[in-house]
Amino acid sequence: MLADINEDEGSLKGGIEAFTEGSLRPAIKKFVDGHEFPADLFREFLSLGYMGTAYDPDYDGAGLGVRGSAIVTEALAAAEPGFAAIYLCNSAPMTAIARYGSDELKRRWLAPLCRGEFIASFGVTEPHGGSDVASIRTRAVEDGDHWVLNGAKVFSTNAGTPLHGVSTIIAVTDPDKGAKGLSTFVVPVGTPGFRVGKASRKTGWRIAPSVELFLDDCRIPKEFMVGQRGEGLKQILTTLSIGRILVAAAALGLSRKAFTLARDYGRDRKVGGRPIFENQALTFPLADAMTSMHAAELMIRNAACLADAGRDFRRETSMAKLFCSEMAGTIADLATQIHGGYGMFEDYEVSGLMGEAKVLQIVEGTSEVQRLIIARDLVTS
Ligand SMILES: Cc1cc2nc3c(=O)[nH]c(=O)nc-3n(C[C@H](O)[C@H](O)[C@H](O)COP(=O)(O)OP(=O)(O)OC[C@H]3O[C@@H](n4cnc5c(N)ncnc54)[C@H](O)[C@@H]3O)c2cc1C
Repeated sequence: MLADINEDEGSLKGGIEAFTEGSLRPAIKKFVDGHEFPADLFREFLSLGYMGTAYDPDYDGAGLGVRGSAIVTEALAAAEPGFAAIYLCNSAPMTAIARYGSDELKRRWLAPLCRGEFIASFGVTEPHGGSDVASIRTRAVEDGDHWVLNGAKVFSTNAGTPLHGVSTIIAVTDPDKGAKGLSTFVVPVGTPGFRVGKASRKTGWRIAPSVELFLDDCRIPKEFMVGQRGEGLKQILTTLSIGRILVAAAALGLSRKAFTLARDYGRDRKVGGRPIFENQALTFPLADAMTSMHAAELMIRNAACLADAGRDFRRETSMAKLFCSEMAGTIADLATQIHGGYGMFEDYEVSGLMGEAKVLQIVEGTSEVQRLIIARDLVTS
C-alpha cells in the first residue's frame, strides 16, 4: 500500500468502492454478456458527482487532479474494465477543454460534464492509421463566424450512447503548416452534419461502444475552437499523455480483478484430491503478479504526481502505460490458465479479461508507440 493517499483520496476510493460493490458488480454481467451500454447504471454513477474529480472547483469539479482520476479509474476497472473505459474516454475531452479552453467554453461544456449531465467522446483516430496523429485529414475551414468541418473518425468511444452530449474533434485548419496546422473543436451532439455510425461488438471494452463519426459540412461557432488555432497537436500529445495514466490505472484495476479471481479459484480447486496451489508452478507466477502490481501502483502514482505538479511527465506516463497494460495481459492470461478449461466459459468472469487487457495495449497509443516515445526520449535527453 502507498503511504501517501490523503484523506480526500481515501474517501474518494471508499465512495467509488461503495458504488462498485453496491450497484455495479451485482448488475453488470448481463450488460457484459450482451455487449450492451449500461445506460441506467452509468446514469446512477453520474449522479454521484465523480465525473469532475480531477477538475477545478470553479467549474464544479472536485480539484483532486490526475491522482484522483486514476483512483476512480482503477476502482471502476477492478469491478468492470468496460465501465472504467466509459469514464476514461470521457476524461480525454474534459482534459482538453479544462487545460486549453476559454472560460466561456469551460462554463458551457466542462461544468455540465463535471456535474454529470451528459458524457463526452473524443475523435482523434482516423481510418488511415491512428498511430500517426499528425496525419489527420479531417478538415476545418473558416466561413464567417463559423468553422465548417468535413471528415470521418473511427473508434470514438461513448459516441452514440443515450448519454452522449458532446465530442471534441481534431481537424486540420492550416494544411500548409503540417503538424502545426491542427486544431481542436467542440462539436455538440445534434449539430447538423454530425453523425454517429453503428456500434459493432468488440472483444474488449464490450460495454463501451466505439463508433465512427461523420462530419459533413458540420458548422460550429468560432468560439467552439479549443485554445489557439494550430495548437491541436500539442493539445493531443498532452491530453493523450494524461489519458495514458488513466489507461495504466485501468490496467492495474483489471489486473487486481484477474488476480483475485485466480487466487479465489485456485484456493478451492483440487485436482486428484490435491489443492492446485500446492504447485509452485502456479503460485510463483502469482507472486510475480503481486510484485508487478505493486510496481504498477508506484509508477501510476508517480506519473500522476508529475502531471499534477505541472512537471514534464511524458516519458513516465508512457512507461507506466506500457508496463501496466502489458502486465494486465500477463495477469489476465495467468488467471485464465489457473482456471483451466473453465476459464474458457462465459459463465466464469475471468473468460473475457484477456480481450479486455488487449484493448489497453492499443488505445491511446499502442505499446509500440509507447516504446517509440521512451526510446526517442532516451536518445535525445
Ligand atoms: C476499443 C477501442 C477504443 C478506442 N477509442 C478511441 C476513442 O475514443 N477516440 C479515438 O480517437 N481513438 C480511439 N481508439 C483508437 C486507438 O487509439 C487506436 O486504435 C490506436 O491509436 C492505434 O491506431 P490504429 O488502430 O489505427 O493502428 P495503426 O496505427 O494502424 O497500427 C497498426 C500496428 O502498427 C504498429 N505501428 C504503427 N506505427 C508504428 C511505428 N512507427 N513503429 C512501430 N509500430 C508501429 C502499431 O503499434 C500497431 O501494432 C480506440 C481503439 C480501440 C481499439
